[in-house]
Amino acid sequence: MSEVKILLTENEMPEKWYNVMADMPNPPKPPLHPGTGQPIGPEDLSAIFPMELIKQEVTRERWIEIPDEVQDIYRLWRPSPLYRARRLEKALDTPAKIYYKNEGVSPAGSHKLNTAVAQAYYNKQQGIMRLSTETGAGQWGIALSQACNFFGMECRVFMVKVSYNQKPYRRTMMEIFGSSVLPSPSTETKFGRQALADDPDTPGSLGIAISEAVEIAAQRDDTNYALGSVLNHVVLHQTVIGLEAREQMAKAGDYPDVVIGCCGGGSNFSGIAFPFFYDKQTDGAKVRLVGVEPSACPTLTRGKFAYDFGDTAGLTPLVNMYTLGAGFMPPGIHSGGLRYHGDSPLLSQLVHDGFIEAVALDQTSVFEGAKLFARSEGIVPAPESSHAIQCAINEALAAKEAGESRTILVNLSGHGLLDMPSYEAYLTGRLEDYPLPEDILAKSLQSLPQVG
Ligand SMILES: *Cc1c(COP(=O)(O)O)cnc(C)c1O
Repeated sequence: MSEVKILLTENEMPEKWYNVMADMPNPPKPPLHPGTGQPIGPEDLSAIFPMELIKQEVTRERWIEIPDEVQDIYRLWRPSPLYRARRLEKALDTPAKIYYKNEGVSPAGSHKLNTAVAQAYYNKQQGIMRLSTETGAGQWGIALSQACNFFGMECRVFMVKVSYNQKPYRRTMMEIFGSSVLPSPSTETKFGRQALADDPDTPGSLGIAISEAVEIAAQRDDTNYALGSVLNHVVLHQTVIGLEAREQMAKAGDYPDVVIGCCGGGSNFSGIAFPFFYDKQTDGAKVRLVGVEPSACPTLTRGKFAYDFGDTAGLTPLVNMYTLGAGFMPPGIHSGGLRYHGDSPLLSQLVHDGFIEAVALDQTSVFEGAKLFARSEGIVPAPESSHAIQCAINEALAAKEAGESRTILVNLSGHGLLDMPSYEAYLTGRLEDYPLPEDILAKSLQSLPQVG
């Protein structure tokens, strides 16, 4: 019987994260202060982030040690398994080989715990006892709640209102781990009250929730802010995924022709893809790297590469990235984790420079792929991850069409066991596609800040 699960022992877990900045021909442009428009320094960030994370944000050192305390917690679920999706290959009748890395085995159910644990650790080291954050679909909120719980810290979560209502079980899960969870916009912050006054029925957005969480963190000395995606240090922590996957592919005697991940803020995709970018830069590896986003929130494929705010209020630094405009309000699509208006500046730069490809998919086709994957492999994927799966299916079918072999590596960023309302909508034919209309995009991009 041929191999299905490719495992690493705990001793084979990576002891360092990979920092892609060391190998980028064009590192991202510097973040700018939201008020002055000048490049920010460490002191500008120290009100809301601990110094170690600020250093990781800017360093060009290639390998960063994973602290022992973080490794100890990683061992609860890492190294995560890599699977050969033989039953999916058979269902597709394709000559392609499909491998998937399963980050859904983490206690949080997604890859987000990889960075949550690291962020909680560095904050605790600096004496911070409380973190505030936003969450979209709820996966980040769960991950940070668990991480804060492990380190005996408090956690306050602003949850995008549409998800708060659509995904009540996620909130309960955060509460199991001791967090306090508020629907955003909330009445707790100045910005939340303003957003509610502007539109009492707003579904909320990640941009608004970030503004609220940053506002709270900036006000209190004992409270810092934590972000689940986009930032360089988050992407750094996620490279543990790709570093493991590369070892596991080698164990299977294989190497990918294409590496695929879904993109919200870009962290899980960057996490699996960047170690292979390293191979491209240092060994000339011929591997394609493909990020997949929803056609309703097509940041990399239709956004503008420009300086923009990370949040709606304009409190965060300006970063140079692909963006749909900080005021962009994505429709209520069923993958809350992919509704963000921007994308990681590292990933954006590599897409801009032609090292990384991006595609956008409609959600009905994505749920088709999710169903086929579930029925073949037995795992119900998160709707977010299903974007990557559907793209892998398309790659496998293209290989079949061309009559060629192709080795595909896809990141299963999380399981979908708390996404039953979305699956129910799909199964009962209530799911619609929302390709972003050109005029709405153009209007949203008009609000981009003018920079230098
Ligand atoms: C949050 C989330 C995403 C999107 O975030 P990235 O930073 O782009 O990875 C994707 N999949 C799952 C399961 C998530 O929880």
